[in-house]
Amino acid sequence: MLHDRLGALAALGATDDGIDRALFTPAERAARELFVAWARADGLRVEQDRAGNVFARLGGATDASSGSAQAAPVQCGSHLDTVRNGGAYDGAYGVVGGLEALRRIAESGEAPPRALEVVAWAGEEGSRFPLGCLGSSVYSGLTPYADVEALVGDDGETFAAAVRGPYGLLDGVPVRDGFPPPAAYVELHIEQGPVMEREGARLGIVSAIAGQRRFRVLLDGVAGHAGTVPMRGRADALCAASEIVLAVERAALDADDTVATVGHLVVEPNQTNIVPGRVVLRIDLRSVEDGRIDLAERRIRARADEIGAQRGVGVSVETIETRAAVPMETRMRLLVSAACAERDPRAITIASGAGHDAMCVAHVAPTAMIFVPSIGGRSHVGDERTAPADLELGVEALAATLLAAAHAPWSG
Ligand SMILES: [Zn+2]
Repeated sequence: MLHDRLGALAALGATDDGIDRALFTPAERAARELFVAWARADGLRVEQDRAGNVFARLGGATDASSGSAQAAPVQCGSHLDTVRNGGAYDGAYGVVGGLEALRRIAESGEAPPRALEVVAWAGEEGSRFPLGCLGSSVYSGLTPYADVEALVGDDGETFAAAVRGPYGLLDGVPVRDGFPPPAAYVELHIEQGPVMEREGARLGIVSAIAGQRRFRVLLDGVAGHAGTVPMRGRADALCAASEIVLAVERAALDADDTVATVGHLVVEPNQTNIVPGRVVLRIDLRSVEDGRIDLAERRIRARADEIGAQRGVGVSVETIETRAAVPMETRMRLLVSAACAERDPRAITIASGAGHDAMCVAHVAPTAMIFVPSIGGRSHVGDERTAPADLELGVEALAATLLAAAHAPWSG
């Protein structure tokens, strides 16, 4: 069932190099429709909200006339959109795995004391609209709905128009009032990196989702003739940039559990026979501890100033994005830990270097994550893979966590 469903989703938006399922496109809508059809076939109650998130619920009161206030559900979920030429497991696994976990719980005959819910979050990848974790960010109150409505997509259409358009909200699915938070949340996801495979772990207990800071560095040197300007006295912006790239690498190597990358560099005028006069580069810096990011940033800035001064190149470092690290909630993490340790003696605790919907939901509910390995650590590519047995084990750990969480005394 799990594999058939993942296969059916992978066919939606399939390209020669992977899968394209940007939010509110025909392929992405088809994926949400399939999710709704499967959920209903499994006997779950389906709703959506104004952001395009879709919810499938097992248990809980179905009769509003009972008069008693309904306890908040324990949720799991992930996303159905993909990056361009993305893989079949990033996001889709957490959604389909959630349905599978609920199906097994229902079949076991156990009646959890709280409703359980699977969520397909809208637009996690920043596909089409320029906001990552769009649906979960609105749901968690981190981004006001009015701000999201005003977002303009790649094709010039606003979110407000797209959500009401032919590929927006689903027909025949009730739209919820507001964004009521869950009692607790757990997200099942592929690791998207090589660490678990290297360690021989089949299940990962996520400790925290890394904080992230991005910088734009402008280097102003002096352009000149590559043949006539002597080496001494040049103000070569690319030579200065090269030293800064290495300083960024050094700053991350000198800090534990920190990664730093320069993946974007623009050289002007970018001509073989001209000394580079100007360079713009971007730095992506991440760690699960904000203090380590602070330290690495200070070192990078100090070295950038020194390099600029030594080379007579103007250097300015501008922060363009800041996202704090999000630790997983202790009680939920313990439930995940127990579920994983029972099924995999080599389960490891691991930080998530990538962002996930869980980092938004963590603002409104106790949140944790379960990882399964990615073969070769490859993700966001067409040949993204996880061993079928590991996919199965992840679903088992998810089902056990959901059941344990349904019995735990949450306040909501
Ligand atoms: Zn994802």
